[in-house]
Formats: sequence, structure tokens, C-alpha cells
Amino acid sequence: MSYDNDNIFAKILRGEIPCDKVFEDDYALAFRDINPQAPIHVLVIPKGAYVDMDDFSANGTDSEIIGFMRATGQVARELGAVHGGYRLLANNGADANQEVPHLHVHIFAGRNLGPMLKRFDG
Ligand code: 5GP
Repeated sequence: MSYDNDNIFAKILRGEIPCDKVFEDDYALAFRDINPQAPIHVLVIPKGAYVDMDDFSANGTDSEIIGFMRATGQVARELGAVHGGYRLLANNGADANQEVPHLHVHIFAGRNLGPMLKRFDG
């Protein structure tokens, strides 16, 4: 899939629509999810134009990938999520129900997050 410059997170990165920012550096922007699923629910996005994890892992530069991973860990620390624990989630494509076509990692924390996935009955 080619990158859509008009996706909502591209607009947030360009400052065209607001976000509740919690972190920003050269590689990543992190902001609170508009529809939180946990007491802490933050999205971390790379600054580069990558559709999803598949695109980023194949086409991102080493600096972008390292910078994004370091930023994600730093955001979790700054949110105070390390002690109680947290979950990272990146939906990739149709079966994962990815809604926004700019790579984002969800950070969930602040309560017990339950099972990893809906039960699979084969
Ligand atoms: P996905 O299903 O693509 O992994 O998750 C997209 C997430 O983006 C959802 O949790 C949704 O609530 C969030 N989201 C969608 N539009 C906006 C927005 O305009 N601002 C913020 N902060 N979050 C958004």
C-alpha cells in the first residue's frame, strides 16, 4: 500500500490537527489516543511516512528504527508505566483491523490488561 499523505496521523505530524502530545524527538511523536482503552493509552508514531510495521521494518533507516524503538521505551518510562507493566500493540493491515495507515504503536497501561487476544477456538 502506498502512503496516504492525508491520513489523520500525517495531519497531526504536520500540526494541521491538534493532539494531546506527551513526547516528541527527531524520530517519534507520542500522543494520547482519542478513544482510550486503558487509563494510559498513548500512540507512538515515527516521524517518517511509513504505512505500517511491514513498511517501516523493510524501508526505514537504521537510525529511524533505533530512534523509534528508543522513543517508545522512553515514553513508557515517562508515563510511569514500567513498574506496573504495559502492553505494546501495533496493528498491521486488514486482519489486524488497522484503522490509520501510518505506523503507530499503542502503549496500554494503568490496569490489568487481561488476555493478549480474544480466545481462539481453532
Ligand atoms: P488502529 O486500529 O489503527 O491500531 O488504531 C488507531 C487508533 O487511533 C485508535 O485507537 C483511535 O482511537 C485512534 N485515533 C483515531 N483518530 C485519532 C485522532 O484524530 N486523534 C487521536 N489522538 N487518536 C486517534
